[in-house]
Amino acid sequence: MKKIAVLTSGGDSPGMNAAVRAVVRKGLYLGLEVFGVYRGYTGLMEGEIKKFDLGSVGDIIHRGGTMLHSSRSEEFKTEEGQRKAIDQLMSHGIEGVVVIGGDGSYRGAQKLAEYGIATVGIPGTIDNDIPGTDYTIGFDTALNTIVDAIDKIRDTAMSHEKTSVIEVMGRDAGDLALWSGLAGGAESIMIPEVSIDIGGIVDKIQKGIERGKKHSIIIVAEGSTSGVEVVKQIKNRMNLEPRVTILGHLQRGGKPTGFDRVLASRLGAYAVDLLTDNQVGVAVGIEQNKLVHYPFDKILGKPHQINTNMFELASQLSI
Ligand code: ADP
Repeated sequence: MKKIAVLTSGGDSPGMNAAVRAVVRKGLYLGLEVFGVYRGYTGLMEGEIKKFDLGSVGDIIHRGGTMLHSSRSEEFKTEEGQRKAIDQLMSHGIEGVVVIGGDGSYRGAQKLAEYGIATVGIPGTIDNDIPGTDYTIGFDTALNTIVDAIDKIRDTAMSHEKTSVIEVMGRDAGDLALWSGLAGGAESIMIPEVSIDIGGIVDKIQKGIERGKKHSIIIVAEGSTSGVEVVKQIKNRMNLEPRVTILGHLQRGGKPTGFDRVLASRLGAYAVDLLTDNQVGVAVGIEQNKLVHYPFDKILGKPHQINTNMFELASQLSI
């Protein structure tokens, strides 16, 4: 393999830049020609492909978002769109593509592999919802952003003796809610993986009030229900005016943490190693601090799992 390309696709996440840098620099280190593809699969179909040198990825390791930009493309899901992308790759002589994104992007990479393009996927999403890796790139940064927000909301909740409901991202996964709830000392955590009765949450608030507690924090994963709905349900059951904060897209931005930069650097370089080793149609990850890879088939469609011990711990520590 002599020429490879890298693209970012789907939802962006902090640390994607560090992964792009690692792919480019490791590729050049190994003597490959490396191309950057702008705007994900859209740019791939439209030929937004540029040859990169060492300087192309300078001064990006600490930046959030993705310098390659990202996109969602319905056209790429069609055979016609995929053929356009293959034609572009062939015209540049590119044999291998590293795709940084979530499971949707992996499906796209799997399609490219079916046309004979060597592909390796790198998990880039704040949601931590990709099987085959303990952590996705961006999760740690988003977690820290949320914890910082919880701490700030706690200051005002405490001062004004209010119950606060905070809705966090995660798509169908509860990891961001669970980890931030545990780290932020939340009284209750609502995640899609565990069915929770609002009555139990109300009882907990009530018991807290009875023993002199003045404020509570409830973290709601967007995949379970909405923060507004939780406030409505609480108001229906008790004489309380909880405040709701929907953290929204601020969770996707910001400087990547040291952890995410290291993870992205390791996974980016590993992806290039695998391409040069002819291990293709695979996604890379980290398990128990070891680099691992699995065929896309093994990962796609596999249900996401939550750490139930951690959920139990969070409820034990917030009685
Ligand atoms: P993420 O990668 O963050 O999960 P999406 O699910 O939006 O984000 O997927 C990103 C892009 O990957 C889509 O816009 C589409 O272009 C491509 N993609 C997703 N599913 C498929 C598929 N089944 N076949 C081909 N391409 C796909």
